[in-house]
Amino acid sequence: MEFADRVLELEPEGAYQVLSRAQELQAAGRDIIHLEIGQPDTPTFPNISSAGIQAIQDGHTRYTPSAGMNDLRSAIAEYTSKRLNVKIKSSNVVVGPGAKPALFFPTLALVRPGDEVIYPNPGFPTYEAMIRVAGGTPVPVPLSEEDDFSFDLDAFNRLVSRNTRMVVLNSPSNPTGGVMPLSALEHIAKTASDLDFWVLSDEIYSRIVYSSPAPSIASFGGMLERTIICDGFSKTYSMTGWRLGYGIMPEPLAERVNLLLNHSIGCTAGFTQVAGLEALLGPQEQVDKIVQEYRRRRDFLVAGLNQIAGMSCRNPQGSFYTFPNIKAFGIPSDQLANYLLEEAGVALLSGTSFGKYGEGHIRLCFANSIENLEIALERLKSALDKL
Ligand code: PLP
Repeated sequence: MEFADRVLELEPEGAYQVLSRAQELQAAGRDIIHLEIGQPDTPTFPNISSAGIQAIQDGHTRYTPSAGMNDLRSAIAEYTSKRLNVKIKSSNVVVGPGAKPALFFPTLALVRPGDEVIYPNPGFPTYEAMIRVAGGTPVPVPLSEEDDFSFDLDAFNRLVSRNTRMVVLNSPSNPTGGVMPLSALEHIAKTASDLDFWVLSDEIYSRIVYSSPAPSIASFGGMLERTIICDGFSKTYSMTGWRLGYGIMPEPLAERVNLLLNHSIGCTAGFTQVAGLEALLGPQEQVDKIVQEYRRRRDFLVAGLNQIAGMSCRNPQGSFYTFPNIKAFGIPSDQLANYLLEEAGVALLSGTSFGKYGEGHIRLCFANSIENLEIALERLKSALDKL
């Protein structure tokens, strides 16, 4: 079958492939601990689920405006204005089914064939996919493990140029848990205004942080005019399956992105949007509580991983992932990840599922119970001791 060039180099997300193999093993009777897929293990908070159910009963089952319901757009604008101490209007907000549309559609609206787009590698696989579909040239920038997986600024300085149309940032990061320091963001912001490029700042893990809040490049003077903030409800409020996210961007771009949404998706489910409104306006203590719980799990897992000979693991400052260095085993990451699934029954991801510079690492998601993490650690240790 012949396809258009834009889809030829697309590859599936590694997490889904590993999940499918892990489920096969489970169906054959194996006991598997799932640390591969990146989502909270807890259900959606009850007040949010109730609001969604009530919304269906109240008839929020019809089309809504394609950019989202006005109440929700206003609440998102207010929430983000407070979070970042900037002034955002509801006309800057475009709501979509998940955060992914807030990555894909602004990229389609801005990136022209041949434009270069810088993005983190290892990084969320959708970045490379959206750049390719837009016809842009993906320019991966490695992350620096010594600097808590911030952008390698020397590499960035070498790769950025007047051909750079957009730079994608993700802090806190999937897969590393790294948070970019203010100084790195400052440098990228200054380069953005010198060379005139856009910044797409994926802040979906902004609420899942363990020390201070992660700074956002959008807070720097003048940056709101050239920044798209991607955020959403999936991770913070355990709403991955509801499909609700949003982009914040200058109004003319929001109008174009809205057109893309209008013609491809139509709109986001109305009852999902009502549930999202409750998420933002309802009690926030439950978010703080679950983040405290993630911190406990992080501390437990990282301490355990560092006790395994050959493994060295940094303490992630945000998100619910650890990205230990496994270079000492001398085995390619994908082979080691496979071995750990087949031999130890622990599903996790190869660092290379997030790009070539993820080699030498594996990703584990710690949004899982301490009991499961404990079993996983025991199994990993005994499987790795056999090597
Ligand atoms: N951005 C990052 C960094 C992610 O890790 C994810 C989900 O894993 C997304 C965006 C997409 O989120 P959603 O499921 O809301 O589309």
